[in-house]
Amino acid sequence: MARRRLLPYLGLLAVAAATACGGGTSAGADGAAGPRSEARQPSPSVPDTASPVPSETTLEATPSPTSTEPPAFSAKIQKVDRSMLKHSWRPGCPVPVEKLRMIVMPHWGFDGKVHTGRLIVHESVAEEVAGVFKRLYGWRFPIRRMEPVDRYGGSDYRSIDADNTSAFNCRRATGSGNWSKHAYGLAIDLNPRENPWVNPDGSNEHPNARAFVKRPLDKPGVINPGDRVVKAFERVGWEWGGYWSGAKDYQHFSKGGG
Ligand SMILES: [Zn+2]
Repeated sequence: MARRRLLPYLGLLAVAAATACGGGTSAGADGAAGPRSEARQPSPSVPDTASPVPSETTLEATPSPTSTEPPAFSAKIQKVDRSMLKHSWRPGCPVPVEKLRMIVMPHWGFDGKVHTGRLIVHESVAEEVAGVFKRLYGWRFPIRRMEPVDRYGGSDYRSIDADNTSAFNCRRATGSGNWSKHAYGLAIDLNPRENPWVNPDGSNEHPNARAFVKRPLDKPGVINPGDRVVKAFERVGWEWGGYWSGAKDYQHFSKGGG
């Protein structure tokens, strides 16, 4: 069972401000260079419909007296157990299940409605990540969907193809034998269709992302250099893959880089 608690947001803001520009952990830094050859391959497996992860639900935006205020943001940070991570965690992973948390929080969709998202991250960053997504929510930054990668059988490729925003996945860094920051729950891929991995030659692995490989790009859900989304993550020490040299990973934010 998950233990739930509400976030102390006033305290969170103070903490976020105090830790702005703070360096992140270097654990698992896996570098940015090199082609992605691993963990980006199509998987023949089908979605695990028996996954214990709850289905995404839609919350109607509650009309407020002023009519322009979005429904209040609230996030729950819950413990996870092994049964929820059948595909994304296994013995030998660099983070024990007990150190992971699921953030359950609302986000705006491309449909102009509020949806419930679920994001699994390391416990050490759960509150600051919720703080960043609170800011995105306040801006009505659209997010296609936010489900644990277990809903895609642990397949990074399929999660990306579904334009799914996710974080934890116990896998190696692409083009490297080191663990990805995702394997620690210290990296997030945000709107991966709108923000694709782009090879140095401009190519990418996902046909549905071809309209999104250029930057700057003025489209909904797109992350651009120096924009408020990048700055919101930078405030809490998360770096953007769009600043990498060589290949760019426009969807990728990680604690301390890498
Ligand atoms: Zn990533």
